[in-house]
Amino acid sequence: MMQLIDGKATSQTIKQEIADEVKHIIANGGKRPHLAAVLVGNDGGSESYVASKVKACEEVGFNSSLVRFNSDVTENELLACVQKLNVDSDIDGFIVQLPLPAHISEEKITEAIDPRKDVDGFHPVNLGKMILGMPCFISATPQGIMELLKRYNIETKGKHAVVIGRSNIVGRPMSILLSQKGVFADATVTVCHSRTANLKELCLEADIIVAALGKPKFLKADMVKQGTVIIDVGTTRVDAPDTKRGWQLIGDVDFENIAPKCSYITPVPGGVGPMTIISLLQNTLKAVKL
Ligand code: NAP
Repeated sequence: MMQLIDGKATSQTIKQEIADEVKHIIANGGKRPHLAAVLVGNDGGSESYVASKVKACEEVGFNSSLVRFNSDVTENELLACVQKLNVDSDIDGFIVQLPLPAHISEEKITEAIDPRKDVDGFHPVNLGKMILGMPCFISATPQGIMELLKRYNIETKGKHAVVIGRSNIVGRPMSILLSQKGVFADATVTVCHSRTANLKELCLEADIIVAALGKPKFLKADMVKQGTVIIDVGTTRVDAPDTKRGWQLIGDVDFENIAPKCSYITPVPGGVGPMTIISLLQNTLKAVKL
């Protein structure tokens, strides 16, 4: 029997848990968590991601700040902003929304963020700590997926997981988390990418597939065996003239045809997406406790 992994419902549950924790912190004389977001330019995708992060903060009782820059901001101006946020004791954590304009080095900006406030978990220190299994900020999407596996009590121990994609923010950390020691980890992981020769054969052997390549409906029903757990990370905007917004999000998985073969599957939208924001809130709460 296929079971849908409802990321939206799970995220609502966790939001309530976080809101309760915030109430508890305040009742005990603690400080209200404060997340800041830095947004450069006015890219539609980035605008809406940041807007939903700010909204989520309000919902759980966090303070939030939005720092905006025009797309012609210089690298030095942005670095100065990062330094300011690093030393602002009211800000517990902050993110710089990517992508940045081409004239600004994302690497430089990311490395300038104080790792203790790096709630996106993109700083090399946090990535290094994650690899060593030390306490750290883990990037939001992989952390959200791990949380879904946990909440749905999905066995990963000894399973063969295929992760399609090796990006620094999704595929790579995902493959490390799944292969770590521990409950809801302990999987044997194969990482696939654009140079992988026998992707279909590998997928057919997988008990768990995490598709994070950004190619709409890439994973087809004939590429998976019966009973596979499918996590669809892909979110590609495609034109949809019939909709109010004029576009719709399409995942990396041919959901309709694969779903009947799966044991568990995440939909797009309403699967991994809502969990990404939850991770950011969880990381901010963690930053408060540091
Ligand atoms: P990315 O940086 O573009 O990385 C894509 C990865 O997929 C690369 O490693 C690439 O291989 C690999 N790939 C591309 N075509 C392939 C193919 N035909 N076969 C096998 N591997 C292939 O993307 P990303 O940032 O990881 O994001 C992936 C997707 O997840 C995107 O659709 C993105 O929008 C979505 N996403 C969603 C959330 C969410 O909250 N739901 C969060 C983050 C990202 P190479 O390394 O060889 O180029």
